[in-house]
Amino acid sequence: MKLYTIKTSAGSMRVAASHSMDSMGWDITSLFPSLLDVIRGGEEALQIIAQEIKSKTPDVNLNEVTILAPIPEPIRNVYCVGWNYLKHFNEGIGRRGDQEVELPQYPTFFTKSTRAVIGPNVPIPYDSGFSERWDYEGEIAVIIGRSGINIKEHDAMSHVFGYTLANDVSARDVQRRHGGQWLKGKSMDGSCPLGPAIVTKDEIPEVQDLTIRCEINGETRQEARLTQLIFSIPRLIHDLSEAMTLLPGDILLTGTPDGVGFGRTPPVYLQPGDTMVVSSEQLGQLVNVVGPDLKEKR
Ligand code: MG
Repeated sequence: MKLYTIKTSAGSMRVAASHSMDSMGWDITSLFPSLLDVIRGGEEALQIIAQEIKSKTPDVNLNEVTILAPIPEPIRNVYCVGWNYLKHFNEGIGRRGDQEVELPQYPTFFTKSTRAVIGPNVPIPYDSGFSERWDYEGEIAVIIGRSGINIKEHDAMSHVFGYTLANDVSARDVQRRHGGQWLKGKSMDGSCPLGPAIVTKDEIPEVQDLTIRCEINGETRQEARLTQLIFSIPRLIHDLSEAMTLLPGDILLTGTPDGVGFGRTPPVYLQPGDTMVVSSEQLGQLVNVVGPDLKEKR
């Protein structure tokens, strides 16, 4: 099942379910007022929705509504992991200034603020007065369904609700100038496009089969499969949940493959008007344009 948060032409926020991407769906807001309510309801909620839509005619044309981020206002920061594809780690070697590191033995976690989350087709708030090195990172995001702490790897997938696409927009120079940390430079307002839908995990029997691609202005820059992850999704959930409770609706970005702008020779950074398309065979596509330069408005 694909689950959407949408806005109608009348301006009301609704929840929709669909069997296919970007076509017809069912408005399920009367059952579950928000997609977070569906996630919190888990398997039972999905069964209720499946039952409801079996007998009803689709009443939402997904091409005629505004598709928002599936969770427009996350309950807390978005969890992210860096350096989770070997080729991406390697493409940064020699480009991190005096902040070179060995390939880590444990996942490198950081977060992006809730205000970073935007939906498909919303322009990225680009500001050259803040950074001149804006970059893209196409990623698969995991949506946590069941709460848990100290989750075992073998049990981790039972805590997953589904998946969506993400773009971990980054300001490379800001990451470096604040000591190589990953909050400043990764947590700008509007720097985390998410969507278009949450695809429930039953539709992805083998999570390693998920594909991820990122195109800039029509040119493929990143292309990978989740088989290439250094730390698998169960391992990420295990490590992140050690001594820290994960909650229904938590969002975890699983890292970006090689092909980012700063890894190119010479590096190529995003410019106003650039179109970024993050896509996956199973999860649809997430399109965002880099907005006009906000420098003059600072
Ligand atoms: Mg990233």
